[in-house]
Amino acid sequence: MPMETPYRTSVHENKQAFPVAPGVWGLKTVFVNLFFVSAPDGSWVLVDTGVYGSADKIRKVAQELFGDERPKAILLTHGHFDHIGAVKELAQDWDVPVYAHPLEMPYLTGKSSYPPPDPSVGGGGMAYMSFLYPKKPINIHENIELLPPDGSVPGLPDWRWVHTPGHTAGHVSFFRERDRVLLAGDAFITRDGESMLAVMSQKREVHGPPKYFTSDWGAAHHSVERLMVLNPSIAATGHGLPMEGEQLMRQLEQLVKDFWSVAVPGHGRYVNQPAIADEQGVLSVPPSDNTIPKVMAATGLVALAGVALVMYARQQNKSQQARKGDWRNRPFSHNRPLQGIPPTVPATLDEDDPHAHTNNYP
Ligand SMILES: [Zn+2]
Ligand SMILES: [Zn+2]
Repeated sequence: MPMETPYRTSVHENKQAFPVAPGVWGLKTVFVNLFFVSAPDGSWVLVDTGVYGSADKIRKVAQELFGDERPKAILLTHGHFDHIGAVKELAQDWDVPVYAHPLEMPYLTGKSSYPPPDPSVGGGGMAYMSFLYPKKPINIHENIELLPPDGSVPGLPDWRWVHTPGHTAGHVSFFRERDRVLLAGDAFITRDGESMLAVMSQKREVHGPPKYFTSDWGAAHHSVERLMVLNPSIAATGHGLPMEGEQLMRQLEQLVKDFWSVAVPGHGRYVNQPAIADEQGVLSVPPSDNTIPKVMAATGLVALAGVALVMYARQQNKSQQARKGDWRNRPFSHNRPLQGIPPTVPATLDEDDPHAHTNNYP
């Protein structure tokens, strides 16, 4: 039963939104992207909400794409200020639920602030934008809902969410298996996050998560690896333009392989020790003067693991391309090298412990 035109096509008439894939459009607000995603039945959801003050712009583009139809839901990749700027206003205006990962809840319900950003890593583009930073966590508890633990995405039956912690503990990405479209949030980004010039540029390039705000580099590495194994055909991220095909895969593989030398800062608060958080908020952060150079001993091991994974993923992909529903079963390395890279959680912690901010959710 072919469904040739399940998605609205009015994007071609829209001047502000950029097309990502069938039924998926991006919109840039100042320096961060949000996404409009259409479901097969013509309903739609919003993924992230841009910087503060973006509500009118989002409403206008939504009107052009979908007419007066309100979205079924707002989905959040994570709760950083540049992704939730308009969430409160839009959720109340549209009267729709906002979905996020359980580990992101404390920052969306006023319970906890994120681990402090690390200005010692240079800051770059994010530091320049500091005038936009809110001082307190927002509270949208009237509208907030947990993403379903089975990996399904409310309002988008053909998508799955993937836990991709590291940049934040409850960071998630969204994946449409049918054509392998990935919305990666800030798990990795497609421009140089540290360069102010790159904010304006059209250059497409895979980079690690924005350094300034990433509080667990081991988990962040793991998450990029997890997304690479999904073998996305198109990836749209929180910062930068969408990328696709061979160029995307090649650069993702390279990022996984070289993560500790190209994505992780040479020194910084969270390089050797992550911030620890649970569903209640931040439990501990390393001292701010933690600038011990990172141990590079594990890089080789990580590279080897990455290469093996790529080969495995390719092989799997060839044989499984037509098979549906099993992407969550594709293996990826749970095994961090024993030294050099800080563990996300104590090794003794049970895998199913909900307090572990590692990949224990689908
Ligand atoms: Zn972020
Ligand atoms: Zn961001």
